[in-house]
Amino acid sequence: MTDTSRAVTVQDVPIEEKTVYVPYMSDHVFALTAALRHHGIRSEVLPPSDDETMDIGLGVCRGRECLPCFLATGDLIRACRSAGFDHARAAFLVPGSPGPCRYGQYRVLQRALLDREGFQDAEILSPTSENSYRGFGEHPQALRTLVWSGIVATDFLLKLLHEFRPYELERGAADVAYQRGLDRLQAAMERGGARALTAAMRAIAGDFGTLAVDRSQPRPRIAVLGEIYLMLNAHSNQQMILQLEAAGAETVSGTLGEWLHFADETKMDREVLFGTWLSFLGTKGLSAYKRSVERRLRAPIAHLLRQHVDATMRELFDMVRPYYDPLLGTETTLTLAKTVEMARHGVAGVVNVMPFSCMPGIVVAGIAPRVRADFGQLPWLDVVYDGQHLTNTRTRLEAFVHQVGQFAKAQ
Ligand code: SF4
Repeated sequence: MTDTSRAVTVQDVPIEEKTVYVPYMSDHVFALTAALRHHGIRSEVLPPSDDETMDIGLGVCRGRECLPCFLATGDLIRACRSAGFDHARAAFLVPGSPGPCRYGQYRVLQRALLDREGFQDAEILSPTSENSYRGFGEHPQALRTLVWSGIVATDFLLKLLHEFRPYELERGAADVAYQRGLDRLQAAMERGGARALTAAMRAIAGDFGTLAVDRSQPRPRIAVLGEIYLMLNAHSNQQMILQLEAAGAETVSGTLGEWLHFADETKMDREVLFGTWLSFLGTKGLSAYKRSVERRLRAPIAHLLRQHVDATMRELFDMVRPYYDPLLGTETTLTLAKTVEMARHGVAGVVNVMPFSCMPGIVVAGIAPRVRADFGQLPWLDVVYDGQHLTNTRTRLEAFVHQVGQFAKAQ
């Protein structure tokens, strides 16, 4: 029988002698690995998922798991199978999460699969308060706040990219500025400290501020929302944002930082429910600190962003309440709340990306007609991914962007 407890317990080889590998979900992982290196932990990003990792994931899983599971598991197994990979000195970072989402069980399944494949020595790290954040070095709290800063900075960099790229006069210039920004953030994270990151944000503002753009013909704005992995992982959503831009739209999407705020807020709700007040105060204090970091990092680029400042999680919960009780939890809350927020700020259409058989996405699709009705039949497109290449996507998206453009003109 597989010992699943190994997913979260201490292994024989000290973490300082291992390399922490982080599966690529989105560009936020570069900030995470840089923060780990700043704290003296060797860390690398695994190559992004591709068709090969999908095939491996499908081959080793049972087939009932969700799409992010196939990809993330395939990434781990491919790394272990690759020539020269020292799995005895490898630790894979696989965060855990409570609640009904299958994500929280990935680490258990992946432990079992690594064992079955003969990679018992490869460790899975799931740092939580229950295991004293093993894998997060000697100063786990400082590392966590540094990671948070890097995540937020990457979110802002992505916002700049999505606001500038559709209007660039020189093709590819926004991508170059974005890549340079990622490099700046990584270097700042490795140096550590708030000042280095703020300076990086100033430099990023300089890069984007000098980009030549033409916004004389505003494009219809489409919100790309839905399941967090699919929303942020360009391979699994088959480059949804690039495809929408190619079809003539400007996009705006949810952020990883927001998803983490959502996790904090639902944790606080549970703490209130169970009367664990000390823990509640700790979460609340940390949440307030995170907001202050966000404000500090937004300030240098604020003059370049045309989008509104994101609503707080309490405000979002109030927005979604007429349609769905936030106490029910899951990403349904976040997707519907962001729809309301963005519709109020002039978004003219929503693409809801959802993995095949994922419950929160199915609930969103069921409730969406009520939200749309309250915003003049806001155009809406559910795109379901099952790991197969979608056919006719380009035609569907072109038709949708046209519909959104008509809707925007009529407003
Ligand atoms: S939200 Fe759905 S698709 Fe995403 S990890 Fe959870 S169960 Fe899987």
